[in-house]
Amino acid sequence: MLVVMQQDASEAQIQKIIQRLMEDGFDVHRSTGVLHTVLGGVGGKDDFDTAVVQVMDGVKEVHRIVAPYKLASRAFNPAGTVVKVRDVEIGGNKVVVMAGPCSVESYEQIERSADIVADGGASVLRGGAFKPRSSPYSFQGLGEEGLRLLRTAADRRGLLVISEVMDAVQIPLLTAYSDILQLGARNMQNFNLLRELGKIRKPVLLKRGIAATIEELLLSAEYIMAGGNYEVILCERGIRTFETYTRNTMDISAIPVLHKLSHLPVVADPSHGTGRRDLVPPMACASVAAGADALLIEVHHDPDHAFSDGAQSLYPDQYFELMKQLRVIAPAVGRVVE
Ligand code: PEP
Ligand code: MN
Repeated sequence: MLVVMQQDASEAQIQKIIQRLMEDGFDVHRSTGVLHTVLGGVGGKDDFDTAVVQVMDGVKEVHRIVAPYKLASRAFNPAGTVVKVRDVEIGGNKVVVMAGPCSVESYEQIERSADIVADGGASVLRGGAFKPRSSPYSFQGLGEEGLRLLRTAADRRGLLVISEVMDAVQIPLLTAYSDILQLGARNMQNFNLLRELGKIRKPVLLKRGIAATIEELLLSAEYIMAGGNYEVILCERGIRTFETYTRNTMDISAIPVLHKLSHLPVVADPSHGTGRRDLVPPMACASVAAGADALLIEVHHDPDHAFSDGAQSLYPDQYFELMKQLRVIAPAVGRVVE
């Protein structure tokens, strides 16, 4: 940790900081510059709250040098992690496409979705059976019946399944029916749920919270990994900003930043990232160009009558066209889309 003292900091103030850092086990190295005294704290407690020093008299700035997450950091596995689910590798050379409707609505709908998704070349079928809706009066999902329909449709076309878990009591159901468990944006900091997901041995796709920083996302990944489940996939799905034209602001820069800070694979979800189907293809292409290891895309056979997120769901033809574009873009950045 580096503590930069204000220009006019007194010796008494400097000594107080040194004392405080030593109490928490830091070795303190002092360097006196022309304008500022800088205190370098080495060692000390990993979870030391820098705000404690930040508010002390005479302090100008405090910088943490070591990231507060360890298992999720790039240093833990510099070569990068590949999450393997049957014959699908997320984080390898191939960009994996996960596609499907926002929610599983009916037998017919998910069967038709599986055909569209497989025909376009994606390898994972998405569909929510437990839906986190902003309104309690909106469609909440079909529950276990939805998972059963999703699994059956995916198996018929040789697809993997991803579906959302909203509560710890649903974990046994999700592990039974789904290959990848999705932890939604609204639950990114549900620490009990994160801990429970650390106990299972199935991949978890962890979505960035709507107002979460990249560091907070990585700390949530750390919760899962600290329980022994190292198969975590990070997902950028847009964050809330002052911009209202799009549902969220798709933070494309989060993709290379996450790759720099972490060894975990990174997925981009331009459907929730923009909320508008016309913006999904360009943002999907941009995500692949920025290094995304996979895409999560909403597509529906009849988006205008979808039970949820119809406005951001691609028409089948748009999805087929997007897959074609991705096959052109991926090689330009050394990747492949099948
Ligand atoms: C979803 O994938 O349908 C979903 C609810 O996503 P998010 O948690 O990102 O809003
Ligand atoms: Mn959705």
